[in-house]
Amino acid sequence: MRGFAAPCSVIQVVWFKRDLRTCDHRPLAEAAAAGPVLPLYVVEPEYWRLADVSARHWVVQRSALVELAQRLAELGAPLIVRVGDVVAVLDKIHAAVGIARLLAHQETGNLWTFQRDRAVHAFCRRQQIAFQEFNQTGVIRGRQARDRWAAHHARFIAAPLVPEPRRLTAVVGAKVMAIIPTAEMLGLPDDGCVSPQCGTRATALGLIESFLAGRGADYRRGMSSPLTGASCCSRLSVALATGAVSVREIIQRLYAARQSLNEAPAPLRTVPVTALDSLIARLHWRGHFMQKLESEPELEIRSFHPVHEAARSATAPDDPMLIAWATGQTGIPFVDACMRSLIATGWLNFRMRAMLQAFASYHLGLDWHVSGERLARLFSDYEPGIHWPQVQMQSGQTGINTPRIYNPVKQGHDQDPEGVFTRRWVPELAAASTDVLQTPWFATGADRGGYPAPIVDVEAAARAAKERLTALRQTKGYREAALEVFQKHGSRKRRFENDNPGKPASRRKIAPKISAQLSLRFGGPDAPPDLT
Ligand SMILES: Cc1cc2nc3c(=O)[nH]c(=O)nc-3n(C[C@H](O)[C@H](O)[C@H](O)COP(=O)(O)OP(=O)(O)OC[C@H]3O[C@@H](n4cnc5c(N)ncnc54)[C@H](O)[C@@H]3O)c2cc1C
Repeated sequence: MRGFAAPCSVIQVVWFKRDLRTCDHRPLAEAAAAGPVLPLYVVEPEYWRLADVSARHWVVQRSALVELAQRLAELGAPLIVRVGDVVAVLDKIHAAVGIARLLAHQETGNLWTFQRDRAVHAFCRRQQIAFQEFNQTGVIRGRQARDRWAAHHARFIAAPLVPEPRRLTAVVGAKVMAIIPTAEMLGLPDDGCVSPQCGTRATALGLIESFLAGRGADYRRGMSSPLTGASCCSRLSVALATGAVSVREIIQRLYAARQSLNEAPAPLRTVPVTALDSLIARLHWRGHFMQKLESEPELEIRSFHPVHEAARSATAPDDPMLIAWATGQTGIPFVDACMRSLIATGWLNFRMRAMLQAFASYHLGLDWHVSGERLARLFSDYEPGIHWPQVQMQSGQTGINTPRIYNPVKQGHDQDPEGVFTRRWVPELAAASTDVLQTPWFATGADRGGYPAPIVDVEAAARAAKERLTALRQTKGYREAALEVFQKHGSRKRRFENDNPGKPASRRKIAPKISAQLSLRFGGPDAPPDLT
């Protein structure tokens, strides 16, 4: 077979997917301890054609892959990169040299990778190959209820890191593919991302250190605005999505830093301890959200709550509202600024992601899955296990969270008071005065530089959405079905019907309210910054 000179006695294949690292990588360490290792990465063309996947994902994945290939070569076992269907690739290698053992990490991916992993299991069973999968996130495969989940997750995160193997023994004759294909070579259309973040371990370690050295000082206050969020947030999501660094390694580094901070005299503290606590909490939510999709992979396409699923109506891919929203042409300046910034950079802070999704679902009445797919393609940190539960939560589909209908005009005023971000991404309004920047439709006769008229009346659309939601929540059996959702997916740190992480126990409500910022009173109620 091309690529292998001679059969080797015991072939162990370590299959890399979204775990592109050598540190805290148990499959690699276990294989290294047992004998020669064949590290394999398969570029799967069928995956890269899916509707939730895009060129920017490959760009960040490729950056981590290049780094991984270099490190594996230094350790002694070069990475084998193949393009094709995984089962077909494994079948070929098996026919040539006989695979004794396949080792990989469990992946909480989309429905496609879930089915792909099943096919690999079936292939291994047929060929009598021992297939071992290891946990890397602390989510539990097959878990159907949340009791005692947090304790399990905490134990996983606190366990010692798996050291990088000191040396790897290569499989005799295994040859590397000369190049790792570019997005262009894979035929992935350019998606307009002009400044994608790097998904490497080196980048991630640099981000942690700069956060600790002072970048994170204003984390809690700055994270809510797209202006400050880009620099105050950790920006670790991209490297977590490629798996270039493990979530456990990051959290353990932060706990160590927290201890040093506590011991340091106040003037020498580069970031407040509360900033580290907030970041650590968010990294735990990562597992909390991923567990939802791991327990119920169909949540990518089906609403959490059956009443919401029954009420869904389809959105065509060429729906003009969808196109206007996805291209940043809604005529609502802050919505368009956020969308255009996301298209160009591949990143957006949490609150603005939530606002974009909520606007699509509530104001425009679009199906959450169709808009969620668009956002998935735009996020260079696309992580299905966080993404789909968040998309549903921000679209009011869970039945156990307080629905939040963001008012984009209010958000524009609150998060971009001088209009710097809005003017940067909506240059048509560069000359507009700050008092009409978020509501250009009130500025009769003003020059809008070709900027479109709003596609909805923000206030009326929110009111209609609230009425629809209220009616659905009064449906017979709604509460009972919500209890079932809670049993399976709700955090045990909260009481039923408030699964919104970060809210102190004393302020939790028993009955969920629809948090509709319906009026254009700009000082109205909003989540405190730490709820993002
Ligand atoms: C509709 C929607 C879709 C989202 N899709 C994704 C996605 O595909 N991939 C992704 O990584 N995040 C997603 N998020 C969560 C969040 O917005 C991003 O994790 C965060 O903005 C990434 O930037 P950061 O690494 O600087 O975050 P930080 O604020 O510095 O947080 C550190 C890490 O904590 C985790 N985290 C932070 N907020 C959340 C949260 N609310 N829920 C779960 N984990 C969290 C992430 O791993 C993040 O990298 C989504 C949020 C919404 C509202």
